[in-house]
Amino acid sequence: MTSKPCPHCKKPAAPRPENPAFPFCCERCRTIDLGAWLSEDYRVPVPPEETERDGVAESEVGGATGADRDDVLN
Ligand SMILES: [Zn+2]
Repeated sequence: MTSKPCPHCKKPAAPRPENPAFPFCCERCRTIDLGAWLSEDYRVPVPPEETERDGVAESEVGGATGADRDDVLN
C-alpha cells in the first residue's frame, strides 16, 4: 500500500490506476506544480561537474542580478 502525499498540497494522492495525475492528488495540483517547474521556481541542484569553478565565471556574477527574476516568479 503505497499512498504517497501529493508533492504540491501534501494531501494523500490516490494510486495510479484511478489517478491519472499521479503522483499528484489531482490534475490541478499537477498543472500548478508543472507551471512552477517551467518558471524555474523549483531549482534542481546542479551536479558538481556542471559548475565552472575555473575563475572564468567570476566576472559574470556581478552583472547578473536577481532583478529580472521577479517577473518570472509571478
Ligand atoms: Zn494536491
